[in-house]
Amino acid sequence: MNKFVDVLIVGSGVSGLYCALNLRSDLNVLVVCKDKISCTNTYLAQGGISVARGIEDIPLYIEDTLKAGKYKNDVEAVKVLTSESMDNIKQLIDMGLKFDRNDDGSLNFTKEGAHSINRIVHTKDNTGESTANILIDNVKHRENIAVYEYTYFIDIIERENECIGAILIKDDEQINVYAKSVVLATGGIGGLFNNSTNQRILKGDGIATAVKHNIELKDINYIQIHPTAFYDKEIDDKRLLISESLRGEGGKLTNISGERFVNELLPRDVVSEAVYKQIKETQTPYVNLDIRFLGREYIINRFSSIYEECLKRGTDITRECIKVSPAQHFFMGGIKVDLNSLTSMKKLYAVGESSCTGIHGANRLASNSLLEGLVFSRRAANLINSEIDNIENKVSVVKNIDKPLEKLSRENEELVRNTIKSMGGKLDDELLSHR
Ligand SMILES: Cc1cc2nc3c(=O)[nH]c(=O)nc-3n(C[C@H](O)[C@H](O)[C@H](O)COP(=O)(O)OP(=O)(O)OC[C@H]3O[C@@H](n4cnc5c(N)ncnc54)[C@H](O)[C@@H]3O)c2cc1C
Repeated sequence: MNKFVDVLIVGSGVSGLYCALNLRSDLNVLVVCKDKISCTNTYLAQGGISVARGIEDIPLYIEDTLKAGKYKNDVEAVKVLTSESMDNIKQLIDMGLKFDRNDDGSLNFTKEGAHSINRIVHTKDNTGESTANILIDNVKHRENIAVYEYTYFIDIIERENECIGAILIKDDEQINVYAKSVVLATGGIGGLFNNSTNQRILKGDGIATAVKHNIELKDINYIQIHPTAFYDKEIDDKRLLISESLRGEGGKLTNISGERFVNELLPRDVVSEAVYKQIKETQTPYVNLDIRFLGREYIINRFSSIYEECLKRGTDITRECIKVSPAQHFFMGGIKVDLNSLTSMKKLYAVGESSCTGIHGANRLASNSLLEGLVFSRRAANLINSEIDNIENKVSVVKNIDKPLEKLSRENEELVRNTIKSMGGKLDDELLSHR
């Protein structure tokens, strides 16, 4: 079956949906996702979204981002991220997102590792869920945006280094979608790891497509390990993240002898290394995170989701330390894009975690990724809005996909693994092999 749209967006996380919402309402937009619309890393985000505290904060915010990223960042992209942060947060608020506020009505800003000041807006500890819900709700009210859930993106359709559409499988049927612009918003790669905080379905499908079509990649070896995922040796699902904001609000890491061993607010890679060293030295597969001093009432109110999730796993965080250990968390690399999220292939955009704008450098500053998803997907939408009237739908001969989905998916996984390894990335990093 053939289908024609103006814009096809693959992915229903923050970057896919926000891109869709910033496209002109006279464009016919199709968003597709592998699972249900809310099965995204976006939905899992806890801590919040970074935003500059006014124009005067921009230089310090840039410096914090560069320092965390070991100065491997793209400085121009970081300037764009920070200077457009306030406007995008305002747009989210206008869409209906109710960030936590102080008694006087002003936004409540929290702090996370490697930020010099409090500059993270949040809704308690479930910012991802509330952001996703607002975006989904807005999308439902837009007549020009259709969403296909449980729809598998297989490949793009290419003609002479121009992307003219994509091949999808929905209800066992192949759909060749022809689009004037295609946006990949396929998220990260955590599903390739046994030990990750990510949704299991996210296996770098966008990266696999890029490799097959010689589309440029960037920083593929930069994979972030989060120091504090809930330690649970029985689990074969995603690991529960224990947000950085617990350390931001004074949470202390101690080894099994009760000794502190690191400044908890150093960048994630430094804290992860320190935790792993303790794990090795003490021959115990976890360290302890203690937030009991915050008091029961405060913890249950401020960290309600983490409190509930830990309780389900047998730990009352108001009375006990939380056993934590590192886990794969975020992919800084991805499909190389310019400041408008355009890839090296014409009419093909990449946004969010599947893309590499270069803003994270070698290590992401906490809460910069939801913001990246907002800022750069809106830029993609703006460029598409201005150029699309000059583009026509094209068609091509597309072969029938005759392999089972599972086989295709395994082949893609292999391709992504091999690409990461060949570029020096570690998939079975020793930080991850302690379980
Ligand atoms: C536990 C956790 C906590 C986090 N906390 C924070 C935080 O506090 N602040 C912050 O800034 N960041 C946080 N992050 C990171 C942030 O959530 C993600 O980087 C961001 O949400 C990624 O958004 P995205 O739009 O790129 O992709 P996602 O939200 O992951 O969405 C990916 C989409 O791609 C679709 N997809 C993938 N492959 C295919 C395919 N083959 N066919 C069809 N569809 C496909 C999926 O179905 C999904 O809809 C956290 C991440 C995790 C895992």
